[in-house]
Amino acid sequence: DGDPRVARISAAIRVVPDFPKPGIRFRDVTTLLLDHQSFKDTIDILVEKYKDKNIDVVAGIEARGFIFGPPIALAIGAKFVPMRKPRKLPGEVIGEEYTLEYGTDRIELHVGAVQPGERVLLIDDLIATGGTLRAAISLLERVGAQVAECACVIGLRDLKGQERLGSKPLFILVECE
Ligand code: AMP
Repeated sequence: DGDPRVARISAAIRVVPDFPKPGIRFRDVTTLLLDHQSFKDTIDILVEKYKDKNIDVVAGIEARGFIFGPPIALAIGAKFVPMRKPRKLPGEVIGEEYTLEYGTDRIELHVGAVQPGERVLLIDDLIATGGTLRAAISLLERVGAQVAECACVIGLRDLKGQERLGSKPLFILVECE
């Protein structure tokens, strides 16, 4: 999109072929975290975009949404809420099941962490099929929240994740084939 920071961010993300299984090209953001300027630029771009959007809650998806979500929440004056894998959150939870290529997965949220009517920015490192974000959106909407927008550092274009989110706005920093 012409922002010179994005090319450097993209270059800082390592691609690991055949991880965690054959055929998957894993996008490893740990190398982005090692490049201070690129990590800072990633957060700065997202903060610039969302600071005046009346976001009450930044919700991060386990695990890598926990890396990018909190610095954004702090900078825009929102609270941070983790959305976790099953049996990790100690309080009362509400959950949403979703289907994977093989089997199902589940995402959980603490009851009361997000209040009805609150405006949520949903963060993950990467969108592939969009199944994870879709489940997270539906869970947040079940507790009465308004998911204002989703944002991911990386989007895998071929997997058409955007289509599974319907009309929900999705911001992607780095588009990959
Ligand atoms: P999906 O639900 O298909 O959109 O998958 C997105 C979730 O799976 C995110 O939480 C990602 O961190 C993870 N993921 C899927 N594909 C990859 C990939 N190629 N590299 C790194 N993470 C991935």
